[in-house]
Amino acid sequence: MNVLEQPVTSVKGIGGKAEEQLAQLNIYTIEDLLFYFPFRYDDFSIRRADEVQHEERVTLQGTVHSEPELRFYGRKKSRLTLRILSDGVLVQAVFFNQPFLKRQISPGDYVIYHGKFDKHRLAVQGAIIKSGAAEGAFEPVYPLKGDIKLTSLRKWIAAAYELHQHDIPEILPAQAMEKYRLLSRAEACRSLHFPEDMSVFKQAKRRMVYEELLLFQLKMQLFRRKARESSEGTAKVWPDDTVTSFLASLPFPLTGAQQRVLDEILTDMKSPFRMNRLLQGDVGSGKTIVAAAALLAAVKSGNQGALMVPTEILAEQHFDSLTKLYEGMGVRVGHLAGSSRAAEKREVLQQLKDGEIDVITGTHALIQDTVDFFRLGLVITDEQHRFGVQQRRVLREKGMNPDVLFMTATPIPRTLAITAFGDMDVSTIDEMPAGRKQIETYWAKPDTLPRVMQFIQKEVAKGRQAYVICPLIEESEVLDVQNAIDLHARFQAALPDLTTGLMHGRLPGPEKEEVMQAFASGNVDILVSTTVVEVGVNVPNASVMVIYDANRFGLAQLHQLRGRVGRGSEQSYCILLADPKSESGRERMAIMTETTDGFELSRRDLEMRGPGDFFGYKQSGLPQLKVADIVEDYRALETAREDAARLVQSEAFWQNEQYLLLREALSRQAGDLSQRID
Ligand code: ADP
Ligand code: MG
Repeated sequence: MNVLEQPVTSVKGIGGKAEEQLAQLNIYTIEDLLFYFPFRYDDFSIRRADEVQHEERVTLQGTVHSEPELRFYGRKKSRLTLRILSDGVLVQAVFFNQPFLKRQISPGDYVIYHGKFDKHRLAVQGAIIKSGAAEGAFEPVYPLKGDIKLTSLRKWIAAAYELHQHDIPEILPAQAMEKYRLLSRAEACRSLHFPEDMSVFKQAKRRMVYEELLLFQLKMQLFRRKARESSEGTAKVWPDDTVTSFLASLPFPLTGAQQRVLDEILTDMKSPFRMNRLLQGDVGSGKTIVAAAALLAAVKSGNQGALMVPTEILAEQHFDSLTKLYEGMGVRVGHLAGSSRAAEKREVLQQLKDGEIDVITGTHALIQDTVDFFRLGLVITDEQHRFGVQQRRVLREKGMNPDVLFMTATPIPRTLAITAFGDMDVSTIDEMPAGRKQIETYWAKPDTLPRVMQFIQKEVAKGRQAYVICPLIEESEVLDVQNAIDLHARFQAALPDLTTGLMHGRLPGPEKEEVMQAFASGNVDILVSTTVVEVGVNVPNASVMVIYDANRFGLAQLHQLRGRVGRGSEQSYCILLADPKSESGRERMAIMTETTDGFELSRRDLEMRGPGDFFGYKQSGLPQLKVADIVEDYRALETAREDAARLVQSEAFWQNEQYLLLREALSRQAGDLSQRID
């Protein structure tokens, strides 16, 4: 057995109690212990007071210049201040809850002190006295849990390192080590635990980041390959001119990007492997047509297709557009609405089972237990990246092997896409149809509503239409619906000459359809709605989007809502009515007015929120990374991904001794790889 796989207790000084404490950190073996890294370092090297930055944590030295002043708050809290002349700067040092310093320090003393520097006040907050700062200038701080002490952990790591520093083998391929000039594994391990200076620490971290990301990407590539090769799909064949003549029937040519992603999709469908693809394209980039073409190909190859969406409104809309698009092509389009009558539903279900419906639209009810297909060949899910994992499971459990395409307009930054969807192929529409104008976005205070109403009136006079959105927060749907009703009444009263429609989730199905229909056909000028129209709704004549209480929405949602306008050739406008109290609220409003590019927006969203929150709720599928940060280390991620792809495809990786340790590390992480499929 590899010595590093021995339990921690084999290190002298680590006993049963320590073993228990370490287990709380998921540290069981010596290897676990050696590769448990600090999350930050306290820098105790002495700096010059006239050179440090605002808010930096620093260690300074100087002569005490004033009598310490001590004040007590409550029973135990105290604050002691004194001035210290450091490098010609008179710094005010503030010590919390260390009243004993009053007795220990007097004017004229030389002190070394550490804390957070406030450049504006020339103060060091939360200071501590640091004696003998020269040795151990950087002190590692580890993530801790339970009753484990930082000093004990440091001691145990040092003991383990002392004993086993020569047992740490290199696992990375020699080419990578050379190409990226990486520190050895042992060296990196040493520098991370016992750093001498920042530059070595950075090198060490860079090495471990690459190792972690390479292993992670190798794992993903193998999963993906397995998913591909073990999934038996059907190689679909359809008459040659099917897609070309469909495209020729459209009033516009596809954009280059649409054509490219359509080709990628059709190639997958023709292959014997099962398609497992994510199609991302910004709002309004024209994903529906691409889906329609793929569904047509599936039908003409003798299969059925399903188009699933998150809302009834959108399902209805897709049903209408597919019906129109396929006119005269002999495609039977069906619709399964949650709100339709039982008898109607039964009939649709029967037709699906008998193969009398070629393409069905509906919500996720479409893949529920009760629905049987005659021969389901392609499932497209629109606007639903969040549920991907779950749906794939449902389909698999039903024993169905259709090609699967997920479409999303929430552009996922590339680094997240290849992380969370590493087992899928990704196609991206990165081009808008020609002739689109940038949506002008304004952020205004809510009390400007009367002026906004005037503006809408002018737009309607030009023949345009407007949306007015009020928030729907799930916890209180009733209140929010009331909100929509009130706002609708206000608009009706203020603009009696215009027709104002009302839409919210509590309306009965047929009524929703009626309102949507009236808006789509131009009979309603203003649609006051909750966020039920957030995704997918396509009424190109609408040119104004007013979002009430815009600060209550996240960036992705605001972008989706804004995407309801600007879908035609007219100039469109988005007005955010908001008076945010929070900094992040103001930042979101500002970002919205600065960019209409969904990718840029999602990048900034990711920056603001971090990857965990990015998917709305914690969507699993994101890896637990120890040293790497998929946002900050995205370049390394790209590199690791390319390297991993090359490795798994090379014979050498599977055969050569040189890769043995890397393969072993991988199988420790990814489970048994002996079932590799060729
Ligand atoms: P999304 O990607 O948001 O789902 P849609 O598929 O709803 O976008 O398309 C938005 C609008 O753009 C629709 O009215 C559609 O007919 C139109 N459209 C799609 N592709 C093109 C194109 N290549 N040229 C011009 N208009 C297009
Ligand atoms: Mg769409």
